[in-house]
Amino acid sequence: MQLVDVHCHLESRHFSGRLDAIIDAAKQVGVIAFITCAIVPDEWELSQTISHSFHEVYFAAGVHPWYIKNQYFEELQKLYAITDSKYIAIGEIGLDAKTDIDIAVQKNFFEEQLIIANDLNKPVIVHCRGAFNELIASLKRIGKINAGGVIHSYSGNADIARQLMRYGFYFSFGGALTYRNSKKKLQVLHHIYPDHVLLETDSPDIPPVEKSGQINLPENIIYVVKAMSELIGKDEEEIADATTQNAKKLLNLNI
Ligand SMILES: [Zn+2]
Repeated sequence: MQLVDVHCHLESRHFSGRLDAIIDAAKQVGVIAFITCAIVPDEWELSQTISHSFHEVYFAAGVHPWYIKNQYFEELQKLYAITDSKYIAIGEIGLDAKTDIDIAVQKNFFEEQLIIANDLNKPVIVHCRGAFNELIASLKRIGKINAGGVIHSYSGNADIARQLMRYGFYFSFGGALTYRNSKKKLQVLHHIYPDHVLLETDSPDIPPVEKSGQINLPENIIYVVKAMSELIGKDEEEIADATTQNAKKLLNLNI
């Protein structure tokens, strides 16, 4: 089985000093590529360094809505200056209604980063929680994202998914899916499988139910495949193939 973890945070302090073993363990279960997502400008260089330490790691750079600081706005321009074949997306960026940062400020950061992604012809990796109306509104203002994107840990409904697909979006699923308790997610999967589905771990966050309470690891992606297989009644192999093909296509992975 070949898998791509399209969303993890290998920069995390939880992983420092043991990335070799963590990446090896994930490779053992079939992970052939990892997309590590930086969340603040201070992390961009580290993401780049990690991606050069491991053949299978690619990186995205951006400012995550939870960690916005006014002074980061100017630093966004530095996203233009990174020249690196492993720099494959702008992310993690997005909108979150459940954080303290003013949603108008979040929109400024988000839309600026969408514009940068379009200028660089890179896909976007998007976090969206409780703010799908605002997300669609931003997309209406900016227009289609040329290289497409992914909504990570997708929590919206099938109708919103249909609208987002028109803007070039795919949807990735991780640990939350393993709780197997969401009718909404099942409906969404029926609409988007197989052409718009991706897999992720968001490690070190959102562990699967089987590893509840632990630091999440990229190797736990196998629990996501298992849950998806049970939910939609398709073989794990078939899901692995479809999601890996989608990841290669969207993220232009040379694997
Ligand atoms: Zn994340």
